[in-house]
Amino acid sequence: MLNVPSQSFPAPRSQQRVASGGRSKVPLKQGRSLMDWIRLTKSGKDLTGLKGRLIEVTEEELKKHNKKDDCWICIRGFVYNVSPYMEYHPGGEDELMRAAGSDGTELFDQVHRWVNYESMLKECLVGRMAIKPAVLKDYREEEKKVLNGMLPKSQVTDTLAKEGPSYPSYDWFQTNSLVTIAIYTKQKDINLDSIIVDHQDDSFRAETIIKDCLYLIHIGLSHEVQEDFSVRVVESVGKIEIVLKKKENTSWDFLGHPLENHNSLIPRKDTEDPYMKDSYIRKNINQRRETFIFTFNPDVVGLYYRKCQLISKENVTHDTRLFCLMLPPSTHLQVPIGQHVYLKLPITGTEIVKPYTPVSGSLLSEFKEPVLPNNKYIYFLIKIYHTGLFTPELDRLQIGDFVSVSSPEGNFKISKFQELEDLFLLAAGTGFTPMVKILNYALTDIPSLRKVKLMFFNKTEDDIIWRSQLEKLAFKDKRLDVEFVLSAPISEWNGKQGHISPALLSEFLKRNLDKSKVLVCICGPVPFTEQGVRLLQDLNFSKNEIHSFTA
Ligand code: FAD
Ligand code: NAD
Repeated sequence: MLNVPSQSFPAPRSQQRVASGGRSKVPLKQGRSLMDWIRLTKSGKDLTGLKGRLIEVTEEELKKHNKKDDCWICIRGFVYNVSPYMEYHPGGEDELMRAAGSDGTELFDQVHRWVNYESMLKECLVGRMAIKPAVLKDYREEEKKVLNGMLPKSQVTDTLAKEGPSYPSYDWFQTNSLVTIAIYTKQKDINLDSIIVDHQDDSFRAETIIKDCLYLIHIGLSHEVQEDFSVRVVESVGKIEIVLKKKENTSWDFLGHPLENHNSLIPRKDTEDPYMKDSYIRKNINQRRETFIFTFNPDVVGLYYRKCQLISKENVTHDTRLFCLMLPPSTHLQVPIGQHVYLKLPITGTEIVKPYTPVSGSLLSEFKEPVLPNNKYIYFLIKIYHTGLFTPELDRLQIGDFVSVSSPEGNFKISKFQELEDLFLLAAGTGFTPMVKILNYALTDIPSLRKVKLMFFNKTEDDIIWRSQLEKLAFKDKRLDVEFVLSAPISEWNGKQGHISPALLSEFLKRNLDKSKVLVCICGPVPFTEQGVRLLQDLNFSKNEIHSFTA
């Protein structure tokens, strides 16, 4: 009998079937892929049933549209008719129906904060939620206020300050030529990775990562400043200073006016802290409703994107390339070890985003980074799937073209390396990407480290990323062992073969000493990672000793 491939998407054994993070994806009917949805939205068909009209939707009206064939959902103050999208939704109809006839913002943020729904669902837009008069008054009052150093206590911080003494704050001061914005995080474990600054046109944004939240400063500056600025961190007191250069040496009476969500603490999606999930998210969503109804700006609570320029593209294997992107001059962004960002490109008129894990430009220290201040370059190792949606488009970019890059996300904590003695890395295919910075960091910055062992799973020898660099590094640094395992080798291959298995792991994962401090990091296709984690647990590695990379 012929083995006919399944027509459903994701294909039955595809990594796409289970979304990262374990959320199950449902099989979609033929003709219901993302590309098919994009085509439908471009077809000119009336997807809302309102013939292009936008309406104001009251809560009562929203509640009425709660059936599969008549399903409206509100996301951040905007109402969408998602009925035509049901069959195209990778999470399935039931997931969408959980928010039918109601505000789905919280649900959406839990699952898809990075998805560009405004673009995906723009043809399904019914209109805005009707404005509540009481809220309007509050917001306008806020808008009128100008910043003169710290906001008065009563404005934003008061409610949050009640949550504990460690609520961050900011202040500013000036000299003839400089303006310094000081952020008091009240945390000691901050560094240059903890702060992201973007200054574009009239908007100055500084996102500080404080534990499981982002503290956002978002200001329209009162005067012009130069493009470049410097960022300093005083770790001992948890202070960050952003030093801006004035365009004209005049004295500023005030710093500027507050923009959306200025001076607020926003929970990060990848928080591991249940307290943060339960109380802060709810509170912030209430807060958001008040703001969003009036000034919708998805970038403020969603991930913020900035346009980066493609500087170089280099073949690493037959299908994997090293992309180098340059941040805008007015951005400070360093992606922390173990975290990923989202890349965004318009594809046939719809903005598509996919996650990628930045790497260093090389594993070897003799590699010379181009000389630019403030880590202006971000490198990615990206495998091009010729039948994929995003990577062929990325591959078509010319040097000098732009791609949008989000702020980082991820729950890997560098504190996992404290006092670490044995580090095991299990990587499959491009699941090698988070291991790159981990390897660089482990071999240079963990004094307690005795051994690092990488087991790298690939289909064939030609698929191995940076094989010769890995071999050179292992030769140079005796603490590193690298083992390649191939699942589809040619007959001459005399190394290890097969898929991840108890036999392979039990032999590989030997602790140096019985009580040594160990960490095992694992990353690859979802079935690989899930199987690996189960095997590690069977081998008695504790939860704290395992870190699996997912989105
Ligand atoms: P997709 O369109 O997702 O296609 C992928 C595969 O599915 C292709 O083989 C395609 O043929 C198949 N497929 C597509 N449509 C169908 C269909 N209708 N039926 C059957 N099969 C189909 N990747 C990297 O290369 N580097 C990284 O650093 C990296 N970091 C990541 C970090 C995280 C946190 C996560 C979750 C993923 C990361 N990825 C990384 C993977 C990346 O996000 C994308 O999934 C990958 O680039 C594929 O995207 P694509 O749109 O080109 O392919
Ligand atoms: P691939 O298809 O070339 O496979 C590489 C190896 O993975 C195979 O040789 C095999 O040993 C193993 N493998 C593949 N499918 C398996 C299965 N069903 N069960 C057990 N083992 C299996 O890999 P690729 O195309 O490079 O894909 C890499 C994957 O890693 C992608 O799914 C990507 O999304 C994921 N990734 C995740 C992150 C992250 O979460 N942070 C980062 C980078 C890449």
